[in-house]
Amino acid sequence: MSESLRSLPSVDRLLAHPLLAGGSSPGLRTAAARQAIASARQRLKDGGHVESVEALAEEAASLFAALERPSLRRVINATGVILHTNLGRAPLSDDALAAMFDAGTGYSNLEFDLENGARGSRFSHLESLLQRVTGAEAGVAVNNNASAMLLLLSSLCAGREVVISRSQAVEIGGGFRIPDVLRQSGAILIEVGTTNRTSLRDFEEAICERTAALLRVHASNFRIVGFTSFPALGDLAALAHDRGIAMLDDLGSGCLLDTRQFGMLPEPTVQASIAAGVDVVAFSGDKLIGGPQAGILAGRSAHINLLRRHPLARAVRMDKTGIAALAATLRHFERGEALDQIPVWKMISAPIDGIERRAAAWAAASSLPAEVIAARTMIGGGSLPEEGIPTLVVALKTASPDGVGAWLRNRFPAIVARIEAGRVLLDPRTVQPSEDEAVRAALTELPAEYPI
Ligand SMILES: *Cc1c(COP(=O)(O)O)cnc(C)c1O
Repeated sequence: MSESLRSLPSVDRLLAHPLLAGGSSPGLRTAAARQAIASARQRLKDGGHVESVEALAEEAASLFAALERPSLRRVINATGVILHTNLGRAPLSDDALAAMFDAGTGYSNLEFDLENGARGSRFSHLESLLQRVTGAEAGVAVNNNASAMLLLLSSLCAGREVVISRSQAVEIGGGFRIPDVLRQSGAILIEVGTTNRTSLRDFEEAICERTAALLRVHASNFRIVGFTSFPALGDLAALAHDRGIAMLDDLGSGCLLDTRQFGMLPEPTVQASIAAGVDVVAFSGDKLIGGPQAGILAGRSAHINLLRRHPLARAVRMDKTGIAALAATLRHFERGEALDQIPVWKMISAPIDGIERRAAAWAAASSLPAEVIAARTMIGGGSLPEEGIPTLVVALKTASPDGVGAWLRNRFPAIVARIEAGRVLLDPRTVQPSEDEAVRAALTELPAEYPI
């Protein structure tokens, strides 16, 4: 045993091997060599046989390659979920990326007033754009919608009561629970109504001198169906104003376009909330806006000014590249080119015949038996639960769907498919056309057998 342990090469010897020698990152190469030797030692102790220096060098080289690879990297989303939170939600438009590049490459007037040569405000860059696209008097953007809600409730409602329907005291996912955010902000949650029905009267009776606001929360990721009711937003806002309190709205996705034009259920729009009299509406930048991670707050100037001045605003502010990307994304809506320029909206509005052509080309390339079948693309990101857009997917027939899924994920770039009823499904709608060739190439190379 000790004889075979002595046969292990030294770290220096492995590092001298052509597979590992020279090049950048000497520290990482040494770490990889050490790890390969340590694994080999363990295998010997476990009764394994002596391995060649060649084999250990190969192992070390692949460990080194893994250490060099960035942890966060590009993935091709073939899952058929457009706003896939685990896959980074919205891909950015070319203009948004160019704006980020520009803002990040050099210095910028982030907080500098070029006209007067004096200090400026980072909030100024989105102000008028937000006014124009939402129809609100004022707007401000922060790190994400969770922080937007925290800032909103902390600024306007701390120490006072916020009335919310029992059906909307929800968990959005990723640990974001409306009751917890309310508590964190120092506001007191008053739940009214029942799980399925809440009336205007329920809200009215809960309002007292301690009440700061009524809050509506978009039930993003679930739906209550059947015997249900909830007052019209306009009626709720009128009640709030009549009693001198604020009407707040957590819209989640923050859609700016009418989704009915794509045969989808109507997703509530930001403009509709503002028009209904909501004082401040909060929504995400990287859901149906299709931009970078951000939380947008739009509404009355008096309220937005309070939010800007709150100490938390500094803690949850956006960075310059995010501001640049969000501004470029909002401009697409302003110019009426969202469907042509914003990837999320390009996917939603992609005609079925193009999807069919791409799916057919993938299926034809596949080295495993494949067919094109009808399915639905999900919007995801908490918008429009259970609803989808008609699509066509490639279904791969295999005895080991998990094996095929793992093989696709282990490529560069990784391809993430979905497994349904024992088949591997790939949806062209969520794959960008520029990624088609990578998918096609992967399908051509699918092995016939997979380790279990
Ligand atoms: C997604 C969502 C949030 C959280 O938004 P993030 O941008 O992910 O922080 C909050 N409220 C609702 C209703 C949502 O759908």
